[in-house]
Amino acid sequence: MMTRRRTLAGSSGYTVLVVDDQEEILASTRLLLEREGHRVLTAASGQEALALFSPEQVHLVLVDYFMPRMSGEEVVREIRKRDRDVQILLMTGYSGEKPPRQMLRLLDIQGYHDKAEGPDRLLLWVDVALKASAQLKRIRENEQLKEKLLANLSHEMRTPLNVILGYSEMLLEGEAGPLPPSAQEAVEAIRRQAYSLGALVNNFLNFVEVEAEVRGMSLKGVCLADFQREAEEVMALLLRRKPVSFVWQVSPGLPPVWADPQKLLLILRNLLSNAAKFTQEGEVRVLAFGCGGKVVLQVKDTGIGIAPEHQGAIFEAFYQVPHPSVSCGEGVGMGLALVRKLTQAMGGEIGVESTPGKGTTFTLTLQVPPDGAFCGQAA
Ligand code: ADP
Repeated sequence: MMTRRRTLAGSSGYTVLVVDDQEEILASTRLLLEREGHRVLTAASGQEALALFSPEQVHLVLVDYFMPRMSGEEVVREIRKRDRDVQILLMTGYSGEKPPRQMLRLLDIQGYHDKAEGPDRLLLWVDVALKASAQLKRIRENEQLKEKLLANLSHEMRTPLNVILGYSEMLLEGEAGPLPPSAQEAVEAIRRQAYSLGALVNNFLNFVEVEAEVRGMSLKGVCLADFQREAEEVMALLLRRKPVSFVWQVSPGLPPVWADPQKLLLILRNLLSNAAKFTQEGEVRVLAFGCGGKVVLQVKDTGIGIAPEHQGAIFEAFYQVPHPSVSCGEGVGMGLALVRKLTQAMGGEIGVESTPGKGTTFTLTLQVPPDGAFCGQAA
């Protein structure tokens, strides 16, 4: 017997998460989308949706705008924190209030579907969003490819550059016999140019790595006390032969912070090595305490300080304050840009206070884990 039922499409390869507090809407939307070959996840509340959501595996989220407890807008805000690319469509109730366009723009939402407009209209929206998802994926892949190429190229260029630098220095130092004066100038030019090309290559490498660091992050509860030994070892090395002491002052019983342990260590290392670099006497102190449900981590030094006009710019990539008395050594002005980017990716904030000639304090405000664990607790 012939049936008029539409047959199931082959798998589209897309996953759609549908969030609605009304069971019948969830069931009918699931049916509709599964017929198109999409994998469908359903959640009856915002909390359930967040538990189900995993970045890069969900291509589109359909969210009911009006839900009790956690509203559609709140769900979207949380999802956007975890995934900047996932497509989002709001579903509005029959003749209900419409989401403001400003909010759609701010949260990067494709648009909204009025449930009264029926299933065909919804499918149209879903097609548009999934097309955008595929395009965005191609763009991101392309970006990553370019970054990889840049990183590989920069790595490959380092070796020949070091050889050029090494040989030109050897010639200039007379190790291959005295240089005729006419060659001296030429070899010096080779060394100068190789050096600036090397700095450029370093900048590229650091810049590419910043993006990769943020992408590779995984957050969990981390106890700051676990970093004490590492910090003390680094500072013993950096402060040797300088009258600068190092103090680790972390409040006992401090809750863990919500962070990627490797990246948090990278942040701390960067701040500590700057403090060591710019402090000639006095002390460098790491201070951590709880404040308003968050954890504040400070790195304080009694170094040369940063003039107010530079304080806003030091977190920009490649920015360095010109200090006549300090040789910048290896720095390329990427450290603090990396620190800020990583801190923000963990949901934290960073600020600086500084008085020239007196010292500098970098303050990080970090989130605590959502489950409220405490340090020293058995895993
Ligand atoms: P760099 O690789 O040059 O250290 P950063 O991004 O880490 O780059 O720092 C940017 C600039 O901010 C530095 O060049 C320096 O001028 C200033 N700075 C950073 N930390 C300190 C500090 N603790 N004391 C004084 N100046 C600092």
